Formats: sequence, C-alpha cells, structure tokens
Amino acid sequence: MPRRKRWAATVAGEPCKFGHTIRYLSNGRCVECAAAYWLRKYVSDPEKYRARARAAYRADPGKAMARAKQWKQANPERVREHNRRASRKYAEKNRKTIRAMQRAWRKAKSVHTSGS
Ligand SMILES: [Zn+2]
Repeated sequence: MPRRKRWAATVAGEPCKFGHTIRYLSNGRCVECAAAYWLRKYVSDPEKYRARARAAYRADPGKAMARAKQWKQANPERVREHNRRASRKYAEKNRKTIRAMQRAWRKAKSVHTSGS
C-alpha cells in the first residue's frame, strides 16, 4: 500500500507558470505539466511508449492492472469515450462477421418459431 501511495501522493503548492497548483510530493513537479509533458513525449513516439507499457505489464501484470484500474476509476469519461470508439472500430472492421452472426441468429430464431 505505501508503495502505491508514493507515486500518487500530491499536494497543493505554489502555482507553476501555467497556474496549476497540484504538485507531486516526491519531486515537487507540477502534476498537470508533467502529464502534458508525458503526453507530448507519447505523441512524438507512440510505439516506443506502447512497447514500454507492454514491457511493464509483462514484468508485473498485477501492478500494471492495478494502475490501469486506478486510472479508469479516475477517468470514467475517457473510458466511456474509449469504449465507444473501440466498439465502432470493431463494427467497421467486422461488418461481415456481424452480419453473418445476425443472419445465423435470425435463422435460428425462425427455426424455433416455425417448428410447431
Ligand atoms: Zn503546471
């Protein structure tokens, strides 16, 4: 437990040059600026950071999943947006499969209803 607290520990402090006031206890850095910094880094080389996340997951799946869960709880609207996008992408990618499943489903239903 104290290990998880360490990286998440923040405190209200002096506003940074952008006026943010939440800072990490451990290093005194502005939380929002640090997040923006990492986002910029990620956008500049997504594959590198995706690979890093995969490696972290392989090294300690439990920890990675706990962190993801914590993030999801803190960002429910981002999770909803992600799910919406993912399901739309899936529908586009698997249009044929979904249609075949719907056809099979209708057929199975008609067999049941017509077999009196
Ligand atoms: Zn800041």
